[in-house]
Amino acid sequence: MSTESAVDRSRLAALADRERATFARRHPRSRAAYEAAGHLFGRVPMTWMNKTAGGFPVYVERARGARVTDLDGHEYVDFCLGDTGAMAGHSPAPVVDAVHRRLAGLGGASTMLPTEDAAAVGAELSRRFGLPYWSFALTATDANRWAIRLLRAVSGRPKILVNSYCYHGSVDESLIVVGPDGRGQSRDGNVGAPTDVTVTSRVAEFNDLAGLERELAHGDVAAVLMEPALTNIGIVLPEPGYLAGVRELTRKYGTYLINDETHTFSAGPGGATRAWDLAPDVLTIGKAIAGGIPIGAYGLSAELAGTLLGRTDLDLVDMGGVGGTLAGNPVSMAAARATLEHVLTDDAFAGMTATATSFAEGLRKIIDGYALPWSVSQLGCRVEYRFADPAPRNGTESAASADAELEDFLHVYLSNRGVLLTPFHNMVLMSPATTAADVARHHEVFAEALGELLSGS
Ligand code: PMP
Repeated sequence: MSTESAVDRSRLAALADRERATFARRHPRSRAAYEAAGHLFGRVPMTWMNKTAGGFPVYVERARGARVTDLDGHEYVDFCLGDTGAMAGHSPAPVVDAVHRRLAGLGGASTMLPTEDAAAVGAELSRRFGLPYWSFALTATDANRWAIRLLRAVSGRPKILVNSYCYHGSVDESLIVVGPDGRGQSRDGNVGAPTDVTVTSRVAEFNDLAGLERELAHGDVAAVLMEPALTNIGIVLPEPGYLAGVRELTRKYGTYLINDETHTFSAGPGGATRAWDLAPDVLTIGKAIAGGIPIGAYGLSAELAGTLLGRTDLDLVDMGGVGGTLAGNPVSMAAARATLEHVLTDDAFAGMTATATSFAEGLRKIIDGYALPWSVSQLGCRVEYRFADPAPRNGTESAASADAELEDFLHVYLSNRGVLLTPFHNMVLMSPATTAADVARHHEVFAEALGELLSGS
């Protein structure tokens, strides 16, 4: 059976309308706050916040652990967790204490001078990910941008290769997909590209070593920037041998390898890099490692760091295009140290992953109960379902399996019953504070949604 034949579209549309009306009735204060925000571009602090199945965003009043409470007083089990920024849970006590100590006790949010916390964070990131030298940014996007600049400089090559339907932040080079003719083309909707993306980038499908080799053979690729598993177009896991093949090919063609672990950090305390014994030249990360306080970071191999520091022609200290005034600030560093030492610990990951495993098992049971051709993928403490079975093998297949109407219905249905999912896809994340009861609550509501949709009960 296909999703198309299982789902009666007119029933779906009617239920979605009903749920949106319920959403509007349940959220008078959120709606009023949205309507009063006339001086915000798109009425929101950041335009992505308009991605909401209910028609306007839920406004946050409070957030603690795995719970969010909105302005209208509804409490949610939060499986979105700021799309990973709050994977440590909202406002974990050690992070709040460390930030308070820094800001209120010692003082200094923005000094452009180092604190001792930074060295401790660098050492801990080295222990976890295996790369010996670290530098900081405020977002994962900037960590990627600066890594790209550094690798262009050392390689003397112009292009960056990414996987089709990847996401690495608003990095211009990454907004390329494999087109229907098999060649790279700009991703739909790309805003203000500085130049035709095929001038700066090459692209290959995830899990396609032949395609990767074809592109690398041009000899003009400075670096492959990739997630060890795709996450932003749904979880797409690497097939056996694929990641080893990528490393072999990048070495063969003199191309550096950047692992972007911003989301795949869910795989374990050292991300997919440690879980799967990978050896990138550069590792980028952000979001979760400072417990919700802005941060980005990149780690460099010893060889690369040595080469870069030896290049007296590169201005790494002033106007060379790498760095930022607030990067490495005392608050980010205090928060990251507390998160890594006390919250997202090795033990915490074991618990979060066990919670995710039980989430995935329960979800599969419900989906199988309706014989739906959907797949469930797990990456450590992250779980996602796609409307395709078997699970998509690459970004293009995963993009093709999206069903915006169905997703919106499930999101608003869950939200009306106190369960929040990441608005961009059907992804759920487990924090150390997420409980078995939270998982059960999701499954109860999810089963109820499918019951109404598929059997009219
Ligand atoms: N890399 C990956 C893999 C991401 O998923 C994201 C954000 N979703 C980013 C980078 C960019 O992170 P930020 O928005 O914090 O810059």
